[in-house]
Amino acid sequence: MKILVINCGSSSLKFQLLDMNDESLVASGLVERIGLDGSRLVLKTSDGQKHTTEVPLPDHTAALKLTLDSLVKPEHRILGSLDEIGAVGHRIVHGGESYSSSVVIDEEVMAAIEEAADLAPLHNPPNILGVRAIQSVLPNVKNVAVFDTAFHQTMEPAAYIYALPYEYYEKYRVRRYGFHGTSHKFVFETAADFLGVPKESLRAITCHLGNGSSVTAIENGKSVDTTMGFTPLEGLPMGTRSGNFDPAIYSYIMQKENLTSEEMDKVLNKESGVLGVSGYSSDFRDLSEKANEGDKRSALALSLFHRSVKKVIGSFTALMGGVDCIIFTGGIGENSIEDRAEICKGLEFFGAKLDPEKNATRGKLAEISADDSKVKILVVPTNEELAIARDTLRLVNA
Ligand code: AMP
Repeated sequence: MKILVINCGSSSLKFQLLDMNDESLVASGLVERIGLDGSRLVLKTSDGQKHTTEVPLPDHTAALKLTLDSLVKPEHRILGSLDEIGAVGHRIVHGGESYSSSVVIDEEVMAAIEEAADLAPLHNPPNILGVRAIQSVLPNVKNVAVFDTAFHQTMEPAAYIYALPYEYYEKYRVRRYGFHGTSHKFVFETAADFLGVPKESLRAITCHLGNGSSVTAIENGKSVDTTMGFTPLEGLPMGTRSGNFDPAIYSYIMQKENLTSEEMDKVLNKESGVLGVSGYSSDFRDLSEKANEGDKRSALALSLFHRSVKKVIGSFTALMGGVDCIIFTGGIGENSIEDRAEICKGLEFFGAKLDPEKNATRGKLAEISADDSKVKILVVPTNEELAIARDTLRLVNA
Protein backbone atom coordinates (compact mmCIF):
# COMPACT_ATOMS: atom_id res chain seq x y z
CA MET A 1 0.00 0.00 0.00
CA LYS A 2 1.16 3.56 -0.73
CA ILE A 3 0.65 6.10 2.01
CA LEU A 4 0.76 9.86 1.69
CA VAL A 5 2.08 11.69 4.76
CA ILE A 6 1.12 15.32 5.13
CA ASN A 7 2.42 18.07 7.39
CA CYS A 8 0.61 21.38 6.94
CA GLY A 9 1.89 24.69 8.25
CA SER A 10 0.10 28.02 7.98
CA SER A 11 1.48 28.71 4.49
CA SER A 12 3.19 25.43 3.66
CA LEU A 13 2.43 21.80 2.93
CA LYS A 14 5.16 19.17 3.26
CA PHE A 15 4.50 15.68 2.00
CA GLN A 16 6.05 12.28 1.47
CA LEU A 17 4.64 9.36 -0.47
CA LEU A 18 5.86 6.03 0.91
CA ASP A 19 5.49 2.53 -0.50
CA MET A 20 4.81 0.49 2.64
CA ASN A 21 5.64 -2.82 0.95
CA ASP A 22 9.30 -1.98 1.55
CA GLU A 23 8.91 1.35 3.39
CA SER A 24 10.64 3.12 0.52
CA LEU A 25 10.22 6.79 -0.29
CA VAL A 26 8.47 7.20 -3.65
CA ALA A 27 8.35 11.00 -3.75
CA SER A 28 8.45 13.98 -1.45
CA GLY A 29 7.92 17.67 -1.70
CA LEU A 30 7.04 21.02 -0.32
CA VAL A 31 4.46 23.62 -1.27
CA GLU A 32 5.48 27.04 -0.02
CA ARG A 33 3.85 30.46 0.22
CA ILE A 34 0.26 29.16 0.12
CA GLY A 35 -2.06 32.19 0.01
CA LEU A 36 0.87 34.51 -0.70
CA ASP A 37 2.60 35.84 -3.81
CA GLY A 38 5.09 33.46 -5.39
CA SER A 39 3.55 30.16 -4.25
CA ARG A 40 5.27 27.09 -5.64
CA LEU A 41 5.58 23.35 -5.40
CA VAL A 42 8.91 21.57 -5.39
CA LEU A 43 8.48 17.86 -6.01
CA LYS A 44 11.35 15.40 -5.57
CA THR A 45 11.24 11.93 -7.08
CA SER A 46 13.06 8.94 -5.62
CA ASP A 47 15.79 9.21 -8.29
CA GLY A 48 16.61 12.68 -6.93
CA GLN A 49 14.99 14.70 -9.76
CA LYS A 50 13.37 17.99 -8.77
CA HIS A 51 10.33 19.50 -10.50
CA THR A 52 9.27 23.03 -9.60
CA THR A 53 5.84 24.45 -10.43
CA GLU A 54 5.07 28.10 -9.73
CA VAL A 55 1.35 28.96 -9.79
CA PRO A 56 -0.93 31.04 -7.57
CA LEU A 57 -2.29 28.85 -4.75
CA PRO A 58 -4.98 30.65 -2.76
CA ASP A 59 -5.46 27.94 -0.12
CA HIS A 60 -4.43 24.48 1.15
CA THR A 61 -7.00 22.71 -1.05
CA ALA A 62 -5.45 24.29 -4.15
CA ALA A 63 -1.99 23.31 -2.87
CA LEU A 64 -3.11 19.74 -2.33
CA LYS A 65 -4.78 19.51 -5.74
CA LEU A 66 -1.54 20.68 -7.37
CA THR A 67 0.43 18.15 -5.33
CA LEU A 68 -1.85 15.27 -6.33
CA ASP A 69 -1.86 16.36 -10.00
CA SER A 70 1.91 16.36 -10.00
CA LEU A 71 2.02 12.87 -8.42
CA VAL A 72 -0.04 11.45 -11.32
CA LYS A 73 1.64 13.43 -14.11
CA PRO A 74 2.80 10.70 -16.52
CA GLU A 75 6.25 12.26 -17.08
CA HIS A 76 6.98 12.18 -13.33
CA ARG A 77 6.40 8.41 -13.30
CA ILE A 78 5.24 8.36 -9.66
CA LEU A 79 1.61 7.16 -9.66
CA GLY A 80 -0.57 5.72 -12.42
CA SER A 81 -3.67 7.00 -10.65
CA LEU A 82 -4.71 8.50 -7.31
CA ASP A 83 -6.43 5.19 -6.46
CA GLU A 84 -2.96 3.90 -5.57
CA ILE A 85 -2.95 6.12 -2.45
CA GLY A 86 -4.29 3.74 0.21
CA ALA A 87 -4.46 6.18 3.11
CA VAL A 88 -3.21 9.55 4.31
CA GLY A 89 -1.34 10.14 7.57
CA HIS A 90 -1.41 13.64 9.03
CA ARG A 91 1.03 15.15 11.47
CA ILE A 92 -1.16 16.90 14.04
CA VAL A 93 0.75 18.91 16.60
CA HIS A 94 -1.67 18.94 19.52
CA GLY A 95 -4.03 16.19 20.63
CA GLY A 96 -4.70 17.78 24.02
CA GLU A 97 -5.53 15.19 26.67
CA SER A 98 -7.82 13.29 24.33
CA TYR A 99 -5.31 11.13 22.46
CA SER A 100 -2.49 8.97 23.71
CA SER A 101 -1.98 7.29 20.34
CA SER A 102 -2.76 7.78 16.67
CA VAL A 103 -6.34 7.52 15.50
CA VAL A 104 -8.43 7.21 12.31
CA ILE A 105 -9.99 10.61 11.72
CA ASP A 106 -13.76 11.01 11.92
CA GLU A 107 -15.87 14.04 12.82
CA GLU A 108 -15.45 13.38 16.56
CA VAL A 109 -11.66 13.41 16.15
CA MET A 110 -11.88 16.58 14.06
CA ALA A 111 -13.86 18.24 16.86
CA ALA A 112 -11.17 17.24 19.39
CA ILE A 113 -8.39 18.59 17.15
CA GLU A 114 -10.36 21.80 16.75
CA GLU A 115 -10.81 22.05 20.50
CA ALA A 116 -7.05 21.58 21.02
CA ALA A 117 -6.42 24.44 18.55
CA ASP A 118 -6.82 26.78 21.50
CA LEU A 119 -3.65 25.19 22.94
CA ALA A 120 -1.71 25.26 19.64
CA PRO A 121 -3.11 28.24 17.71
CA LEU A 122 -0.21 28.32 15.24
CA HIS A 123 -0.20 24.61 14.45
CA ASN A 124 -3.56 22.87 14.76
CA PRO A 125 -5.55 25.21 12.46
CA PRO A 126 -3.28 24.56 9.41
CA ASN A 127 -3.21 20.83 10.33
CA ILE A 128 -7.02 20.88 10.19
CA LEU A 129 -6.89 22.60 6.78
CA GLY A 130 -4.73 19.71 5.53
CA VAL A 131 -7.27 17.10 6.66
CA ARG A 132 -10.19 19.08 5.18
CA ALA A 133 -8.33 19.45 1.88
CA ILE A 134 -7.79 15.67 1.63
CA GLN A 135 -11.41 15.02 2.58
CA SER A 136 -12.57 17.25 -0.27
CA VAL A 137 -10.11 16.00 -2.90
CA LEU A 138 -9.86 12.29 -1.95
CA PRO A 139 -13.21 11.66 -0.22
CA ASN A 140 -12.90 7.87 -0.14
CA VAL A 141 -9.47 7.67 1.47
CA LYS A 142 -9.02 7.14 5.21
CA ASN A 143 -7.15 9.80 7.15
CA VAL A 144 -5.11 9.09 10.26
CA ALA A 145 -4.02 11.67 12.85
CA VAL A 146 -0.61 11.20 14.43
CA PHE A 147 -0.15 13.62 17.32
CA ASP A 148 3.12 15.17 18.48
CA THR A 149 1.80 15.13 22.02
CA ALA A 150 0.40 11.58 22.13
CA PHE A 151 3.51 9.69 23.27
CA HIS A 152 3.82 11.89 26.36
CA GLN A 153 0.29 11.24 27.59
CA THR A 154 1.71 8.43 29.76
CA MET A 155 3.36 10.98 32.08
CA GLU A 156 2.00 10.94 35.60
CA PRO A 157 0.48 14.08 37.18
CA ALA A 158 3.65 14.88 39.14
CA ALA A 159 5.43 15.16 35.77
CA TYR A 160 2.79 17.21 33.98
CA ILE A 161 1.25 19.49 36.63
CA TYR A 162 2.92 22.89 37.04
CA ALA A 163 3.29 24.40 40.49
CA LEU A 164 0.64 27.01 39.71
CA PRO A 165 -2.86 27.33 41.18
CA TYR A 166 -4.43 23.96 40.37
CA GLU A 167 -7.52 25.65 38.95
CA TYR A 168 -5.48 26.78 35.89
CA TYR A 169 -5.19 23.13 34.98
CA GLU A 170 -8.87 22.50 35.63
CA LYS A 171 -10.12 25.64 33.89
CA TYR A 172 -7.61 26.11 31.08
CA ARG A 173 -5.84 22.72 30.78
CA VAL A 174 -2.52 24.37 31.58
CA ARG A 175 -0.14 21.43 32.03
CA ARG A 176 2.94 19.90 30.43
CA TYR A 177 2.01 18.14 27.19
CA GLY A 178 5.42 17.60 25.61
CA PHE A 179 6.14 17.56 21.87
CA HIS A 180 8.33 15.72 19.32
CA GLY A 181 6.55 12.58 20.60
CA THR A 182 6.58 10.83 17.22
CA SER A 183 10.33 11.28 17.00
CA HIS A 184 11.10 10.26 20.60
CA LYS A 185 9.02 7.09 20.20
CA PHE A 186 10.51 6.24 16.80
CA VAL A 187 14.15 6.56 17.86
CA PHE A 188 13.48 4.72 21.13
CA GLU A 189 11.88 1.77 19.33
CA THR A 190 14.61 1.75 16.68
CA ALA A 191 17.24 1.70 19.45
CA ALA A 192 15.54 -1.18 21.29
CA ASP A 193 15.47 -3.20 18.04
CA PHE A 194 19.09 -2.32 17.29
CA LEU A 195 20.22 -3.38 20.77
CA GLY A 196 18.03 -6.48 20.63
CA VAL A 197 16.37 -5.74 23.98
CA PRO A 198 12.65 -5.62 24.82
CA LYS A 199 11.30 -2.08 24.97
CA GLU A 200 9.91 -2.73 28.43
CA SER A 201 13.35 -3.32 29.91
CA LEU A 202 15.16 -0.34 28.40
CA ARG A 203 15.47 2.88 30.38
CA ALA A 204 16.35 5.48 27.78
CA ILE A 205 16.95 9.19 27.45
CA THR A 206 16.16 10.40 23.94
CA CYS A 207 17.76 13.71 22.95
CA HIS A 208 16.02 15.24 19.92
CA LEU A 209 18.37 18.13 19.18
CA GLY A 210 17.60 20.30 16.18
CA ASN A 211 16.28 23.75 15.54
CA GLY A 212 13.70 22.77 18.16
CA SER A 213 15.09 20.53 20.89
CA SER A 214 13.62 18.33 23.57
CA VAL A 215 14.78 15.46 25.78
CA THR A 216 12.54 12.63 27.01
CA ALA A 217 12.93 10.02 29.75
CA ILE A 218 11.48 6.65 28.70
CA GLU A 219 10.83 3.80 31.10
CA ASN A 220 8.90 0.58 30.33
CA GLY A 221 8.50 1.88 26.78
CA LYS A 222 6.63 4.93 28.08
CA SER A 223 7.44 8.62 28.26
CA VAL A 224 7.79 9.47 31.95
CA ASP A 225 9.05 13.03 31.58
CA THR A 226 10.02 15.46 28.87
CA THR A 227 11.46 18.95 28.65
CA MET A 228 8.93 20.70 26.41
CA GLY A 229 5.80 21.72 28.23
CA PHE A 230 2.51 23.50 27.69
CA THR A 231 4.11 24.75 24.47
CA PRO A 232 7.36 23.86 22.68
CA LEU A 233 8.95 26.93 24.29
CA GLU A 234 9.88 25.20 27.54
CA GLY A 235 13.01 23.23 28.30
CA LEU A 236 16.31 23.52 26.46
CA PRO A 237 17.55 26.68 24.80
CA MET A 238 16.90 26.16 21.08
CA GLY A 239 17.73 27.79 17.75
CA THR A 240 15.53 30.81 18.45
CA ARG A 241 13.43 29.73 21.48
CA SER A 242 14.50 30.67 24.97
CA GLY A 243 13.74 27.43 26.76
CA ASN A 244 13.64 27.76 30.58
CA PHE A 245 14.34 31.02 32.33
CA ASP A 246 13.11 32.74 35.47
CA PRO A 247 9.45 33.58 34.67
CA ALA A 248 9.82 36.90 36.52
CA ILE A 249 11.99 38.12 33.64
CA TYR A 250 8.93 38.09 31.40
CA SER A 251 7.12 41.02 32.98
CA TYR A 252 10.38 42.77 33.93
CA ILE A 253 11.52 42.97 30.28
CA MET A 254 8.03 43.84 29.06
CA GLN A 255 8.08 46.86 31.34
CA LYS A 256 11.66 47.88 30.59
CA GLU A 257 11.29 47.53 26.80
CA ASN A 258 7.65 48.61 26.72
CA LEU A 259 6.55 45.44 24.92
CA THR A 260 3.11 43.92 24.48
CA SER A 261 2.65 40.25 25.36
CA GLU A 262 2.58 39.41 21.62
CA GLU A 263 5.91 41.20 21.16
CA MET A 264 7.38 39.45 24.17
CA ASP A 265 6.19 36.07 22.85
CA LYS A 266 7.95 36.86 19.59
CA VAL A 267 11.16 37.66 21.46
CA LEU A 268 10.99 34.34 23.32
CA ASN A 269 10.09 32.24 20.26
CA LYS A 270 11.99 33.92 17.45
CA GLU A 271 14.78 36.06 18.88
CA SER A 272 16.11 34.06 21.82
CA GLY A 273 17.89 30.73 22.20
CA VAL A 274 21.37 30.41 20.68
CA LEU A 275 20.48 33.18 18.19
CA GLY A 276 19.70 35.57 21.04
CA VAL A 277 22.86 34.75 22.98
CA SER A 278 25.25 34.71 20.02
CA GLY A 279 23.62 37.64 18.20
CA TYR A 280 24.81 35.79 15.11
CA SER A 281 22.87 32.69 14.05
CA SER A 282 20.38 30.03 15.13
CA ASP A 283 22.25 27.42 13.10
CA PHE A 284 24.66 25.25 15.05
CA ARG A 285 27.04 24.85 12.11
CA ASP A 286 27.39 28.64 11.81
CA LEU A 287 27.92 28.96 15.55
CA SER A 288 30.56 26.29 15.69
CA GLU A 289 32.45 27.89 12.79
CA LYS A 290 32.24 31.33 14.40
CA ALA A 291 33.25 29.97 17.83
CA ASN A 292 36.28 28.33 16.23
CA GLU A 293 37.23 31.73 14.82
CA GLY A 294 37.25 33.03 18.41
CA ASP A 295 33.79 34.58 18.72
CA LYS A 296 33.04 34.46 22.44
CA ARG A 297 29.25 34.82 22.29
CA SER A 298 28.89 32.00 19.77
CA ALA A 299 31.02 29.83 22.05
CA LEU A 300 28.89 30.91 25.03
CA ALA A 301 25.65 30.02 23.21
CA LEU A 302 26.98 26.55 22.43
CA SER A 303 28.26 26.03 25.99
CA LEU A 304 24.98 26.90 27.58
CA PHE A 305 23.18 24.55 25.20
CA HIS A 306 25.57 21.68 26.05
CA ARG A 307 25.22 22.41 29.75
CA SER A 308 21.42 22.41 29.57
CA VAL A 309 21.29 19.06 27.76
CA LYS A 310 23.78 17.57 30.23
CA LYS A 311 21.74 18.82 33.21
CA VAL A 312 18.60 17.21 31.80
CA ILE A 313 20.37 13.90 31.16
CA GLY A 314 21.54 13.98 34.79
CA SER A 315 18.14 14.79 36.22
CA PHE A 316 16.32 12.22 34.08
CA THR A 317 18.87 9.58 35.09
CA ALA A 318 18.16 10.36 38.74
CA LEU A 319 14.42 10.28 38.06
CA MET A 320 14.56 6.78 36.57
CA GLY A 321 17.14 5.51 39.08
CA GLY A 322 19.60 4.95 36.23
CA VAL A 323 19.72 4.83 32.46
CA ASP A 324 20.62 2.08 29.99
CA CYS A 325 20.77 4.07 26.80
CA ILE A 326 21.20 7.68 25.68
CA ILE A 327 20.00 8.38 22.15
CA PHE A 328 20.91 11.35 19.96
CA THR A 329 18.70 12.43 17.07
CA GLY A 330 17.60 15.56 15.15
CA GLY A 331 19.86 17.65 12.90
CA ILE A 332 22.36 18.35 15.70
CA GLY A 333 22.07 15.01 17.49
CA GLU A 334 22.54 13.04 14.27
CA ASN A 335 25.27 15.12 12.71
CA SER A 336 27.29 17.10 15.18
CA ILE A 337 30.25 15.12 16.44
CA GLU A 338 31.46 18.09 18.53
CA ASP A 339 28.12 18.81 20.21
CA ARG A 340 27.63 15.14 21.18
CA ALA A 341 31.17 15.05 22.58
CA GLU A 342 30.62 18.20 24.65
CA ILE A 343 27.29 16.98 26.01
CA CYS A 344 28.71 13.59 27.02
CA LYS A 345 31.85 15.03 28.60
CA GLY A 346 31.75 14.25 32.33
CA LEU A 347 29.00 11.64 32.18
CA GLU A 348 31.52 8.83 32.71
CA PHE A 349 30.84 8.89 36.47
CA PHE A 350 27.53 7.12 35.91
CA GLY A 351 28.92 4.82 33.26
CA ALA A 352 28.19 6.75 30.04
CA LYS A 353 31.47 6.86 28.14
CA LEU A 354 31.73 8.04 24.56
CA ASP A 355 34.22 6.46 22.15
CA PRO A 356 35.73 9.41 20.19
CA GLU A 357 36.41 7.25 17.13
CA LYS A 358 32.94 5.73 17.02
CA ASN A 359 31.50 9.19 17.62
CA ALA A 360 33.04 10.37 14.33
CA THR A 361 29.87 9.52 12.44
CA ARG A 362 27.06 11.55 10.92
CA GLY A 363 23.49 10.77 9.96
CA LYS A 364 23.67 7.00 10.45
CA LEU A 365 22.34 4.55 13.03
CA ALA A 366 25.40 3.84 15.15
CA GLU A 367 26.54 2.93 18.64
CA ILE A 368 29.05 5.56 19.74
CA SER A 369 29.77 4.46 23.32
CA ALA A 370 33.06 2.86 24.37
CA ASP A 371 33.14 -0.94 24.65
CA ASP A 372 33.39 -0.65 28.45
CA SER A 373 30.58 1.92 28.74
CA LYS A 374 27.80 0.66 31.01
CA VAL A 375 25.34 3.00 29.31
CA LYS A 376 24.92 2.56 25.55
CA ILE A 377 25.10 5.81 23.62
CA LEU A 378 23.51 5.73 20.18
CA VAL A 379 22.92 7.96 17.18
CA VAL A 380 19.52 7.15 15.68
CA PRO A 381 18.34 9.18 12.68
CA THR A 382 14.73 10.14 13.19
CA ASN A 383 12.11 9.62 10.50
CA GLU A 384 8.82 11.14 11.62
CA GLU A 385 7.19 10.60 8.20
CA LEU A 386 7.93 6.88 8.30
CA ALA A 387 6.60 6.69 11.87
CA ILE A 388 3.39 8.43 10.72
CA ALA A 389 3.09 6.10 7.71
CA ARG A 390 3.58 3.01 9.93
CA ASP A 391 0.85 4.12 12.33
CA THR A 392 -1.42 4.96 9.39
CA LEU A 393 -0.91 1.53 7.83
CA ARG A 394 -1.51 -0.25 11.16
CA LEU A 395 -4.75 1.65 11.81
CA VAL A 396 -6.25 1.33 8.33
CA ASN A 397 -5.46 -2.39 8.30
CA ALA A 398 -6.94 -2.91 11.77
P1 AMP B 1 16.65 20.05 12.47
O1 AMP B 1 15.75 21.11 13.00
O2 AMP B 1 16.48 18.73 13.13
O3 AMP B 1 16.65 19.96 10.97
O4 AMP B 1 18.15 20.51 12.85
C1 AMP B 1 18.72 21.72 12.38
C2 AMP B 1 20.01 21.98 13.15
O5 AMP B 1 20.92 20.88 12.92
C3 AMP B 1 20.74 23.24 12.67
O6 AMP B 1 21.16 24.00 13.81
C4 AMP B 1 21.94 22.70 11.96
O7 AMP B 1 23.05 23.56 12.07
C5 AMP B 1 22.22 21.41 12.71
N1 AMP B 1 23.06 20.54 11.90
C6 AMP B 1 22.76 19.91 10.76
N2 AMP B 1 23.86 19.28 10.27
C7 AMP B 1 24.86 19.53 11.13
C8 AMP B 1 26.24 19.17 11.19
N3 AMP B 1 26.80 18.43 10.26
N4 AMP B 1 26.96 19.61 12.25
C9 AMP B 1 26.39 20.39 13.20
N5 AMP B 1 25.10 20.75 13.19
C10 AMP B 1 24.36 20.33 12.18
